[in-house]
Amino acid sequence: MAELNSPPSPQFHVNALPTLGPALTQTLVDQGLAAADQQEVLAQKVALECLHCGITITGADLQILASPPDPATPDDPRIARLRQGYCARKACPSYYYRLLLEPDPKVDWNRALPHLGVASVPAPSTTSPPPRTSFLATLLHDPRHRRVLYGLAILILLLVVRHFATGGRIPFVHSSPTYTVDPASVP
Ligand SMILES: [Zn+2]
Repeated sequence: MAELNSPPSPQFHVNALPTLGPALTQTLVDQGLAAADQQEVLAQKVALECLHCGITITGADLQILASPPDPATPDDPRIARLRQGYCARKACPSYYYRLLLEPDPKVDWNRALPHLGVASVPAPSTTSPPPRTSFLATLLHDPRHRRVLYGLAILILLLVVRHFATGGRIPFVHSSPTYTVDPASVP
């Protein structure tokens, strides 16, 4: 009996979906499900939801997506868009789907999930690119780097103080000397 109170919902890029179907089927095979049970679970307990528009496709759709298009029977327009790497909903700009697994007594999804990891993307929860960390922030994250940077900052500060203490001038600020002519010196 598989207990799954809060089904995990990993995220997948649209491009990963064609390999997700076979990976799911394989986990069902590994857990001893007969072909008919595999079909039933895929169609009824597996769904993928677009993070942006919320359209859902089923595990059965994934199987269709995994097989090459059949020229005799044109694809469902949703499947055709997924094959091209777009969301199943026309004009939706998102590329990410959330895998929704419903508990089923025949399947232990917790055992199945690690086998789907190959297709998963370290996905952002939106369509925006992942946040960039600045080089400085990366440096400051490491305590050793932080100490070196603080040391450098103190050194620079000391040099600046010394510069002024010894009568140095502010670089790049030129006070142009003014010459006044003594009228007496003019012949
Ligand atoms: Zn969408």
